[in-house]
Amino acid sequence: MLDSISHCFNETVMPKDTHILIVEDEPAIRMGLIDVFVYHGYQVDFADNGEEGLEKALTGQFDLILLDVMLPGINGFDICNRIREQSRDQAIIMLTAKGGDEDIIKGLSLGADDYVSKPFSVAQLVLRVQAVLRRSQSESEQNTTIILDDDYTIDCLNLSGKAGAETLSFTRREIDLLQYLHAHSERPVSREELLHKVWGYANDVDLETRTVDIHVAKLRRKIEKDSSAPAFLVTVRGAGYRLHSQADNE
Ligand code: CA
Repeated sequence: MLDSISHCFNETVMPKDTHILIVEDEPAIRMGLIDVFVYHGYQVDFADNGEEGLEKALTGQFDLILLDVMLPGINGFDICNRIREQSRDQAIIMLTAKGGDEDIIKGLSLGADDYVSKPFSVAQLVLRVQAVLRRSQSESEQNTTIILDDDYTIDCLNLSGKAGAETLSFTRREIDLLQYLHAHSERPVSREELLHKVWGYANDVDLETRTVDIHVAKLRRKIEKDSSAPAFLVTVRGAGYRLHSQADNE
């Protein structure tokens, strides 16, 4: 597992003060992950069961949590859900089983930032971790309020919004996605660009991931009157996604 990892960390990322929590019950995978991140100077903590993982996640200060789904005790979905009740900023990457499409959708719907499917290559996982961290630590786009129409508004600073009388809440990643689309609302934005700009993926990273589409679907359920016929967050066939807001019409 440790082969070829030495050069897959980007030298510009300073891991020294970066704390990662690894929640994984399979000893070989857990030890491999710990070795990789410790080797490169990250501060690593770990848990091998759900209860301990949840406790550490809720009480510790971590820049990123790597969260397995199937765990003894409390499963990764429940842990993710509990973390999100407490923090919508916490960066979370789920480790999902191969072919586990439902797990991927569920994990992202519960607010994970991204996922990696098992079996994963260490290099691939490291790139995802770096990407999520880079984005988590960078500053958000500048718009603080997005007015979709008179009834639908999004407060980017507070990760909240209004849909008529209903109050919405968003994760940091959802707000980042909305802000990026809003800042470039004059054109459709491709999945690749969103992965690059909102998730921090390097341009040459394997882009076979459903992260963007699942986040868009989740956002539509929040901000659209009818998520099957979106009026704000629209798909531009063959080009990507575009956000229509009130400012476009003024
Ligand atoms: Ca497991």
